[in-house]
Order: sequence, then structure tokens, then C-alpha cells
Amino acid sequence: MLKVIKIEESVFEENEKIAEEIRNILKERKILSFNIMGGPGSGKTLFIEKTVEILKDEFKFGVIEGDIEGTEDGERIKKFNIPVVQINTGGACHLDANMVKKGIFNLPLDKIDIIFVENVGNLVCPAEFDVGTEKNIVISSITEGNGKIEKYPLMFKVSDLCILNKIDLLPYIEFDFEKFEKDLKKIAPETFLIKLSSKTGKNFNEWIEYLRKLRMEKKF
Ligand code: MG
Repeated sequence: MLKVIKIEESVFEENEKIAEEIRNILKERKILSFNIMGGPGSGKTLFIEKTVEILKDEFKFGVIEGDIEGTEDGERIKKFNIPVVQINTGGACHLDANMVKKGIFNLPLDKIDIIFVENVGNLVCPAEFDVGTEKNIVISSITEGNGKIEKYPLMFKVSDLCILNKIDLLPYIEFDFEKFEKDLKKIAPETFLIKLSSKTGKNFNEWIEYLRKLRMEKKF
């Protein structure tokens, strides 16, 4: 008889437990949190930078940066004089709840209203690991082409919000907004879409309003 051990299930189960723990810790402290996912170069770090830049007098931020190696993103956030923790996964293609928990405990939680967790850049593994944040955001940029939702459906399904970034590059790039919207409606109908440019600031206010509203609704 062949004995089959399902390692994956226990990994996910353990991860889920820690994610729940994180959610409770953040809820108790009335901290709103986001898991920012997306492919490499989709604009995750700039999105966080712009948000912090606009809202730094309104809310107190904390950031956890996840990368396989390097501290470049952490350094970029540090210039805003807000607490930031850089996590290097040492090869893992995603953050898990345990890594984020360590990151959270290295932030001054009593002095934070909103936490951004920037996940490792790819559209596959981060979608499978709950990291205990309140909301998942996927950032997809028009430079990545039109087929991303069909190719990586789970990523868009697990996300509460999809940011379609770099819309300022439309004159130079072929991109079918209608197809993107149709795919999202079909594959991830619950996922809210905002089209913007972090670089030029076009429509960025739609995200800022979304964030403010969320914070008010949750009565944080
Ligand atoms: Mg980054």
C-alpha cells in the first residue's frame, strides 16, 4: 500500500491559524491592514509611497516589505520617516502568516493606524497564503498585457480590490480595458476595480477615497 502524506494541507492549516491570530491582534488595536500583491514591476512600492505621501498627516502608517532578497523597497519607504520592516524570504516566492507576524511584532503597533504589507512580486504563490490582513489588493499594470486575469485567476479572486496601474502609458501600449473589465467581472465578480496611475496621480484619488471610506465604515 502506498502511504500518501498531504503536507500541503497541514501547511495551509497552520498558516490559517497564525493569520487568524494576526487579524485578532490588529483588530484589537483598531489597525486597518492591506496585503499588496502583484507581479514584479507592477508598481506595488510606488503605490504605497504615493499613498503615504498623500495621507501621512491624516493617518499613521507602518509598512512590511517582503522580498526574496535586498532592502531597496524598505529603503524607499524609510524616507517618509515611518516604521518599516524589511523581510527577506531567502528564496520563498511569497510571504506567509508567520513571517508577517514577526514583522508586525517589530512595528510600534500603538502608534499605527494603517499597515501595508508588500508581498513578494509574483501572481502565483502570494494568492495561496492568507497573511492575516483585512484586505487583499492586487496591482496589475497595463504594461503586463491583457491576459493576466485568465492566466492567474486565483490572485484576482482572493483580492478585494484590483488596481489597474500605469494608465498614463495608454498612448504607447495596446491595452483593451473592456476585455480586462469583462474578465474581472466573469472570474472575480466581487473584486472592485480602480484604474489609476501612481506615477502621474491620475485617478489616484479614487483609491484614497476608498481607503478613507473603509476606515470610516470599520469605525477604526
Ligand atoms: Mg516593490
